[in-house]
Amino acid sequence: MGSDAIIPFHRPWRAERETAYVLEALGLARRQGGGPFTRGCHALLQAQLGAPVLLTQSCTSALEFAALLLGIGPGDEVIVPSYTFSSTATAFANRGAKLVFVDVDPATQNIDPRWIAPAVTQRTRAIVAMHYGGIACDMPAIEQIAAAHGAVLIEDAAQAVGARAPDGRALGAMGALGALSFHDTKNVSSGEGGALVIGDATLAARAEIMWEKGTDRSKFIRGEIDKYTWVDLGSSFLPSEITAAMLKAHLEEAPTINAARLAVWNCYHDAFAALEQAGWLHRPFAPPGAMHNAHLYYLVLNDGSARDALRAHLKGAGVETTTHYAPLHQSAAGRRFGRVASPMVSAERAGEQLLRLPLWPGLSEAEVARVIAGVRGFFEGRGSE
Ligand SMILES: *Cc1c(COP(=O)(O)O)cnc(C)c1O
Repeated sequence: MGSDAIIPFHRPWRAERETAYVLEALGLARRQGGGPFTRGCHALLQAQLGAPVLLTQSCTSALEFAALLLGIGPGDEVIVPSYTFSSTATAFANRGAKLVFVDVDPATQNIDPRWIAPAVTQRTRAIVAMHYGGIACDMPAIEQIAAAHGAVLIEDAAQAVGARAPDGRALGAMGALGALSFHDTKNVSSGEGGALVIGDATLAARAEIMWEKGTDRSKFIRGEIDKYTWVDLGSSFLPSEITAAMLKAHLEEAPTINAARLAVWNCYHDAFAALEQAGWLHRPFAPPGAMHNAHLYYLVLNDGSARDALRAHLKGAGVETTTHYAPLHQSAAGRRFGRVASPMVSAERAGEQLLRLPLWPGLSEAEVARVIAGVRGFFEGRGSE
């Protein structure tokens, strides 16, 4: 590869054992979900999270599963950050609930607890905390508000697999329910995939039934009953053994993957400190003690045109970058299915001024240096803001 080859924004990880495991799954007598690879993934995730887990076909389906399991429906309100992926909201809109959008904290792009309490009404059923870039939301503050108002706390931990909060708790396992993503663009991946984490043990029995299309098939498989029947609502959430086989290979390598990502993240973070000091940009903020998983690295520029100009400059230098969310409250569906419950200064700022840099394990030191040189080159000769 030449030194000026394009540096892609993302390159999916190839786990050492993924081919062997997938071949093994193909050779199984039964390749439907719930077999040995599914059980292996459940065990690995449960050990890390300290809560039971059910694999799903995606994080989107895990969020839909959460909405179904909590019986969220018409007349209910769900508080979500505006700066997030659409699935955080769609899962609840699909059930007929009203979304209530609040702004994010400009330091982390995570839901800002200051806006949650004022957004609560008698109809509030749930609050969704999405951990942007795998950096923990201010969970103690959000938990306090949820408890005070009797709202259920759900975590969209799509980006946070392997990350922990400053108090040591695993992200995804702090709420009543948590949703993980194993999409190709996430740290740990099976192409498409996800999981529902069941933090509230009282939901576990019903979750197992809904996972098996509303039947008590899991009890049947364990030999607890001699035939299974339809007993509740549910859907087809579980992935096949082939997907679970790939996931198991990635989960086993998760510490390696996250350590490699963290090394790149730290390089960027050190390199851009001076530009932040000079007033040109803001770097991500990780609260002291937050054990994040380096899911992404971004810069927030001082205005939208600077962001777009930096993006064009880096493209010219062979560095692929990407923006992120268009705030949900401004989208067509957001306006239809939600309402705005706070000022939206920070969500709109992130929508216009945030740029994500290439970050994947296997990005070489030379490539990281080229990205850094590209960003520095853009600001060269500009002094300070
Ligand atoms: C990736 C992502 C999702 C969706 O995950 P899928 O597994 O692709 O359904 C949901 N929420 C957030 C915050 C995400 O980053």
